[in-house]
Amino acid sequence: MFIPITKATEILKAGGIVAIPTETVYGLAGNALSEKAVAKIFAAKERPFFDPLIVHIAEFADIENLATEIPKNARILAEKFWPGPLTLVLNKKEIVPSLISGGLSTVAIRMPKNKIAIDIIKQTGFPLAAPSANMFQHLSPTTAEHVLQQLGNRIDGIVNGGPCEVGVESTVLGFEEETPVIYRPGAVTKEMIAEVLGMKSGEQGMGSNFQLPSPGMLKKHYCPNTPLCLGVPEVVPLNSGLLAFGEMPKNAGSFAELLNLSESGDLVEAAANLYGMLHKLDSLGLSKIFAVKLPEEGLGVAVNDRLTKASG
Ligand code: AMP
Ligand code: MG
Repeated sequence: MFIPITKATEILKAGGIVAIPTETVYGLAGNALSEKAVAKIFAAKERPFFDPLIVHIAEFADIENLATEIPKNARILAEKFWPGPLTLVLNKKEIVPSLISGGLSTVAIRMPKNKIAIDIIKQTGFPLAAPSANMFQHLSPTTAEHVLQQLGNRIDGIVNGGPCEVGVESTVLGFEEETPVIYRPGAVTKEMIAEVLGMKSGEQGMGSNFQLPSPGMLKKHYCPNTPLCLGVPEVVPLNSGLLAFGEMPKNAGSFAELLNLSESGDLVEAAANLYGMLHKLDSLGLSKIFAVKLPEEGLGVAVNDRLTKASG
């Protein structure tokens, strides 16, 4: 099931789908310009067609084939954050199958930083649609083993590139009129974007909308099989687990299992550990998982977004 890059390239060129590492999470890749390959991705994930996919490119020039126009701010942000975990939503050209964009007139584009991902895109010669390599609404994979567990018998192969560096999905940013709007928080934070664009993140001129109009921004997403609740309960139910952050709560000893996203309270470390620890807790047959929310700043915003959606 684990295959080398050359084999993955071959399969992709023949219209197949393979899981590849990126710096955010593992992606389930297929030829973004092939309706058939894209349909296979939706089928393997059991993802509904209204939830659009991100197209991955290897060079900035590739964007010209996909988008009709590139706003000035999009260029500035791409120059600063690409390759990296920022996805830009732009008006799409005809060549992009409408299946990718859930019927919208826009397409989401990103240049990943992971060397393996970039090599594969370059070697295939076409952009890759690559949503997270997990079943729809389930936990995202940050190791090749996570992919194997969920999709092993549904896809044509997995390229094992070790654990993902960032560990949460990219920031998704679109433009309404000329105004940048964050549709999904991620590793590139609102503050970082505002700074590069010379805006104040709190002030008008930059928005965030984590619910709609991005159709994939469902309230329930990123879910373990075990029920997940936010916060630490006063009375700890039997056989429940805790996903902590920083200092342990006083009643930590009452939990059957304990994991800490970052004992030192480091938000970057917490993001990198998020899915791995959720996968781990989910595998232990617990009755419930409780998760502590992070400070609502920097990468904490993205982690809290995923935890909130995971709690359904
Ligand atoms: P995933 O590939 O699983 O990380 O999810 C991709 C997410 O990017 C989707 O769920 C959407 O919320 C967002 N997205 C993709 N394409 C668009 C688009 N054209 N407009 C707005 N959001 C998009
Ligand atoms: Mg996903």
